[in-house]
Parts: sequence; C-alpha cells; structure tokens
Amino acid sequence: MSNDMNDVYDALAGVARGSVERSYPLARFTTYRLGGPAEIYVAPADLDDLHALTAELRGLDPTGKIPVLVVGRGSNMVISDAGWPGIALRLGQPFAALDPKAEDPTSFDVGAGKPLPLVANWSARRALAGMEWAVGVPGSIGGAVRMNAGAHGSDLAASLVHATVLGLNTGDVSARTGEQLGLSYRHSNLTDREIVISARLRLSSEPREAIRARMDSFRKHRAATQPGALQNAGSTFKNPEGDSAGRLVEAAGLKGWRVGGASVSAIHANFFMADDGATAQDVFDLIHDVRRKVNDALGVELTPEVRFVGPFAGREIEVLGT
Ligand SMILES: Cc1cc2nc3c(=O)[nH]c(=O)nc-3n(C[C@H](O)[C@H](O)[C@H](O)COP(=O)(O)OP(=O)(O)OC[C@H]3O[C@@H](n4cnc5c(N)ncnc54)[C@H](O)[C@@H]3O)c2cc1C
Repeated sequence: MSNDMNDVYDALAGVARGSVERSYPLARFTTYRLGGPAEIYVAPADLDDLHALTAELRGLDPTGKIPVLVVGRGSNMVISDAGWPGIALRLGQPFAALDPKAEDPTSFDVGAGKPLPLVANWSARRALAGMEWAVGVPGSIGGAVRMNAGAHGSDLAASLVHATVLGLNTGDVSARTGEQLGLSYRHSNLTDREIVISARLRLSSEPREAIRARMDSFRKHRAATQPGALQNAGSTFKNPEGDSAGRLVEAAGLKGWRVGGASVSAIHANFFMADDGATAQDVFDLIHDVRRKVNDALGVELTPEVRFVGPFAGREIEVLGT
C-alpha cells in the first residue's frame, strides 16, 4: 500500500464506527468467489457513519482521484486477481432495513444492502405484488438500482418510486425517479461516484396465493434452466434486441467452451462458470474469447452485463474503475 493510502486508511479508521480494513479480501463478497483484496475496505456502521466517512474522504481527496467501488452482493462483478486499487465500500446489514409507509400500505423504503429475494418474500407475505421476479436474483437493492435488474418480463424500474442517492464528490443526497436515473434494460445513468442508499418501492395489492404461485414458478424455471448462484454472475452478456445472448453463444458452438478454469455452462450458455482453481483472468479471457467468436461466426457484438473490477490483461471489454 502506498504511503498516501496509509494516510487515507489512518484518517478513515480515525472517524469510522464501522470497519475499515487494509488489504482486505473481496472474493468472499462475490458470487464468483474470485479476485484479490481491496487496498482499503470500508463497511460503515450506519448512515451517519457513511456520511462521516465520505466527508472525510472528500477532505483527503477533493478531486476524487482515489477509485471507490461500491460492493453490493457481488453477484454481477468479476474482481481482478490483483484486487481493487482503491477503496471498496460495502453497504451490508446496517443498510438493509425495510420500512413500510403508513400513508400508503403498498409503499415501503428498503435499504440498499437488502438482498432481493428477501424483498420478494417480505412483499409476498404482505400480499404485495411486483417484486416476484427478484426471488431468484442474488443481488442487493443497491445493485439492482444500478443495473436495473429484472427478470420474467419485469424489472426494478416497474416498482421504483425513487432511489436515494449520495454523491461522493459533493456529499449531496437526492431522491431520483427511474426516469431521472435513466433506467432501461440493465442500465442506469449512475456513475461510480454515486452511492444508492435506499429505494422507495410501490407495489400493488394481490392475493398472497397468486403472488406465491408466480414466485414458485419462477423458482422452478430457474432451477431447471440455470446452474445456481455460486461461481458465476448470472447472465454474462446482455441480450441483444430481439434475441438471446445464450442462444447466440450456443449457435456459435460454444456451450461448454473453456479457457483455463472458466467454462461456458453446459446448462445455460449465457452463464460462465469458474471451477475450483479458476482465476478472474480466466473468466475475463473466456468472455473475451466468446465475444470474439460469436462476432466472427454470427456478426453480433455482444455487450457484457457483468462488470469487471480492477486491472485485467487485454482490456477490450469495458473495465470498471481502472
Ligand atoms: C445466479 C444468478 C442469477 C442472476 N439472475 C439475474 C436476473 O435474472 N436478472 C438480473 O438483472 N440480474 C441477474 N443476476 C445478476 C445480479 O444479481 C444483478 O445484476 C444484481 O442487481 C446485482 O446486485 P449486486 O448487489 O450483487 O451488485 P454487485 O455485483 O455488488 O454490483 C454491481 C454493480 O452495481 C454497483 N453497486 C452495487 N451496490 C451499489 C450501491 N448501493 N450504490 C451504487 N452502486 C452499487 C457496483 O459498484 C457494480 O458496478 C444474476 C446473478 C446470479 C449470480
């Protein structure tokens, strides 16, 4: 760690009530279970702590040179084997409250750290429909806002009233609607200097049995067609307009294709698996290889949905934060 980062560590540790760690492994926070450490890892104890830590960081780094990575449930990222050359900020359990609104029984606030399946189940218990799609999506609310996560014909945008966002550069907090966030298919206009703190959702009332039945059928569909939530990050590529990335990868003859310890799932060709011993670079190289081969065979340029974090060798794929 550079001297500068030692100073940053000391200053953040001096104000934090939550954890601040040096050279802290991040693999455990991702579904791929891959990648190296963050130079500094920060897990604020609560919202006041987050404000204090980010204010301190602004004082130390007014021009925002130190890269900050917000880590949710790590279900849509591949962290470099070399790790993250900056600060990794994780909004976990202290940011996972569910707060129903007395004035509107179909609305509630939910913290950015809340896992999506818990939101789906909580809503179903209250006979609220609209989040069933999320029952098998292993992300957090914060990551779902950033990615406009969705499945089974719906997405987060369909239920979002607004997200509360903290701007790292200014310390300003704003409530932004889906339109203001530019939510579209697996996309928002949020930058890496903006942190989703919570979201207000509005669902619709429906009998519990109907909601449960939909959730059951989504769960069954996933169990039958996808490899499960470990050692992958869900869909690797976005679906091109009117087509499916999995169909294209399969059509290019790449189901089961392997690079090092990473392979295209034999169950679903848009899921890329990291076997024991795989490196993050293997996953990167596999994605790169498949993208090129699909383009050569079918003339379609696939766009990764998975985010790459930290330095990778050979970087034609968009890499976050480097
Ligand atoms: C088995 C499996 C199935 C999946 N199925 C689906 C699916 O059906 N549909 C779908 O859309 N996705 C799916 N995914 C992908 C993933 O679950 C979603 O993209 C999810 O929204 C990511 O949330 P996360 O908390 O894991 O984000 P992370 O992977 O932690 O982060 C993803 C991005 O969001 C940013 N981010 C995270 N939290 C915040 C925050 N609080 N504020 C600002 N930025 C933040 C990160 O910096 C990063 O850029 C699947 C993944 C797996 C492993």
